[in-house]
Amino acid sequence: MEFWDNINDVVKNMGDRAIDLIETAKLSARIMAEKKEVSDELEKIGTYYYELYARGGIVAPEVAELSKTVKNHYDAIDRFQAEIDRLRADQQVKKTKYCPACGIKVSSSTRYCSGCGELLLK
Ligand SMILES: [Zn+2]
Repeated sequence: MEFWDNINDVVKNMGDRAIDLIETAKLSARIMAEKKEVSDELEKIGTYYYELYARGGIVAPEVAELSKTVKNHYDAIDRFQAEIDRLRADQQVKKTKYCPACGIKVSSSTRYCSGCGELLLK
């Protein structure tokens, strides 16, 4: 009977371990959720102080220093966006076509010229 008692202990142990693993996973998930909440709240605090700085409000030197870094990143975003806008505008210009018959500007996808009816797509 000692064999079966040992087997029972092993199975019970495995069950306990599985329950512990599930509990650990649940608690880890809750820690992750709490960390996300903390991160969201810290972001609100950061945004509050950044906006205060950006409006010319008085902030601690450390906050001003960090805000300058944020401002630099916002400026970089603006430059990249301007570059994207410029590339898209260039693309639009390249797509613009002119009717070979009457010379008016026509859409690149249009089949006939809206001015003179010339067949554009052949
Ligand atoms: Zn035309």
